[in-house]
Amino acid sequence: MDIRDHIRSIPDFPKPGINFYDISTLLAEPDAWQVTMGRMAKVVGPYAPDVLVGVESRGFLVAAPLALKLGCGFVMARKSGKLPGATERYEYQLEYGSDVVEIQKDMIAPGQRVVVLDDLMATGGTAAAVCELAHRMGGEVVAVACIIELTFLNGRDRLDVPFHTVVQYA
Ligand code: 5GP
Repeated sequence: MDIRDHIRSIPDFPKPGINFYDISTLLAEPDAWQVTMGRMAKVVGPYAPDVLVGVESRGFLVAAPLALKLGCGFVMARKSGKLPGATERYEYQLEYGSDVVEIQKDMIAPGQRVVVLDDLMATGGTAAAVCELAHRMGGEVVAVACIIELTFLNGRDRLDVPFHTVVQYA
């Protein structure tokens, strides 16, 4: 099955000139979603992770079912101010301004093997920031995996761990 047949691209979203790859159509098609999750499990499983960190918000949709499938924990990485209780924060630079990612303090124990998951990698800034946060919390970040990679943006170069995807757009 070509997973790309179930992903649509929406021109000029969220801004003119950006072609947005929309996984809503993939999520709405159970056979295609099952195949996607099977392929993701094949690349992530061998890392024997203790926890999968999903990046808000579409990363949750990838990491939560995969964690159930692989029998490991699921942890949320969220934008600033969304998580209750004590959190670890990491502020990172964007092209214009900065952004913050947070994980609840007790969600990653020192030495745990962590795989970071999202639906799509573009510039790699989000994934790199979440890796740094998980690392600062004592986790051993062993890989990053996304369904989709926009290869022409070379986001994978910003990571210092192995990176996997099951669909690429050049
Ligand atoms: P990056 O930090 O790699 O530049 O951007 C990746 C983040 O933005 C991911 O969390 C991803 O969900 C979101 N994102 C950016 N572009 C797209 C897109 O075309 N489609 C989808 N589904 N998400 C995108």
